[in-house]
Amino acid sequence: MKDIIIIGSGPGGYETAIRGAQLGAKVTLIEKAELGGTCLNRGCIPTKVYFRNAEIIENIKHSSDFGINVESYSLDEEKMKKRKNEIVDKLVSGIDYLLKAHKIEFIQGTARLVGNNTVEVVTNTDIISIEGKNIIIATGSSPSSIPVEGADLPGIYTSKELLDFEKIPESLAIIGAGVIGSEFANIFQSFGSKVHLFLRSKYILKHEDIDVSKRLASYFKKRNIKIHNEIKYKKIVKENNKFTIYFEKKNKEKSVTVEKLLISAGRKPNIENIGLDTLGIEYTRKGISVNKQFKTNIDNIFAIGDVNGIKMLAHAAAHQGIEVVERIMGHEVVINQDLVPNSTFVFPEVSSVGKTEEEVKSENLDYNTNKFMFAANGKALALGEGDGFIKVIEADNKIVGVHILGPHASDLIHEAAIIINSNMGVKDVARTIHAHPTLSETFVEAVLGLHNEAIHQMPKRK
Ligand code: FAD
Repeated sequence: MKDIIIIGSGPGGYETAIRGAQLGAKVTLIEKAELGGTCLNRGCIPTKVYFRNAEIIENIKHSSDFGINVESYSLDEEKMKKRKNEIVDKLVSGIDYLLKAHKIEFIQGTARLVGNNTVEVVTNTDIISIEGKNIIIATGSSPSSIPVEGADLPGIYTSKELLDFEKIPESLAIIGAGVIGSEFANIFQSFGSKVHLFLRSKYILKHEDIDVSKRLASYFKKRNIKIHNEIKYKKIVKENNKFTIYFEKKNKEKSVTVEKLLISAGRKPNIENIGLDTLGIEYTRKGISVNKQFKTNIDNIFAIGDVNGIKMLAHAAAHQGIEVVERIMGHEVVINQDLVPNSTFVFPEVSSVGKTEEEVKSENLDYNTNKFMFAANGKALALGEGDGFIKVIEADNKIVGVHILGPHASDLIHEAAIIINSNMGVKDVARTIHAHPTLSETFVEAVLGLHNEAIHQMPKRK
């Protein structure tokens, strides 16, 4: 009997398998499609490869600001896709190597729970049964659609198909302005598409602090991304290989016709045909129900990552799984699952950790905020990336939220994560010398400004 059977080899499944093996568990990992799951094959990594293409294009477009004149450039779509596929393949084979090095049994096949300790796997050649003391479900999620006439028309893209685009579309409509929709909007706008971004709500990236969402919208507009917010969808029609989106805004009927349409309106957990009903495992349409320890209503069966719907991010999936195996193997668990950084790779990047101002307000906390602009940071100006700010929120003398809109936000956020996780306050940051000239100085100034002590910021009126 195995110690741990894991169904699904996304970041949740494979990282959990490796951690389990490190702690001495006998682990079997089962995958029905590609090793590495959504994140590696059609999510985090391919989008970031294309985001890098977009960054290079933006640098070329702005090169004359640096006194460098680039006469012209062109895009080689095949080479761009080839590079993306090579990076994915390299990472997938790296995981394959690590699984072997950790002596993890990997089975390619479709798994289904048939007993509290038994998983049945249909492979290309066989149906096999595996017994395990513990089972971890990490089957991930798939794109979901919207209840609008025409939303199921053939040729409408999900993120998966857009990543394998045949040619860069002249015009692209994106329904949904969450992380995935916003990232694709920026990537394809840089690639040369005319991008229309549709959202029912008022703000793009509505999970972020409103200050960030508002300012980001102004940058999207500057980049000629057309935002259609607060709309009601009427229908989608396909004619002459083009899509027309009919919608209502401020009681006016409107329509936009585009060459390609991406629906990125959220993701649904992969809970079908995995034996949940056979075993009586509880779930809702948001995902498998779990307690704080990611345990289902059956004592030795856990659900981690996108399939439990708690936080659909790769690092959340991995850390939920790591916590589960550490507990199974008798270790003390100290991961703070409530503190998960968010990052969105747009221009400029967005990253946040901890509470938003709206949250501290609704919790009636006595709080204080400060914002420091990248335009006052020497390194940001040298990079030609002075847009954006860092906003810090303090409550009860502790830093409780940090929201970054600016260059390298996704790297800068981790200092803030450690500070919040360690219950630190303004003095702790003030006592730590940060190198000059660095983007990190923006964070220090944003924090010092909470107490009116930032060196490069005008004093706030008392
Ligand atoms: P998945 O990665 O979805 O893996 C689940 C695996 O289970 C799949 O390989 C599936 O084939 C397998 N499986 C399902 N059913 C069975 C079965 N019955 N038997 C065997 N195997 C099965 N997150 C970030 O943190 N950062 C990003 O930048 C980011 N960018 C993204 C961009 C896009 C376009 C998308 C779509 C997602 C992005 N995400 C990002 C989200 C991230 O990909 C997911 O949160 C993450 O992959 C979840 O990991 P997981 O292990 O729970 O599931």
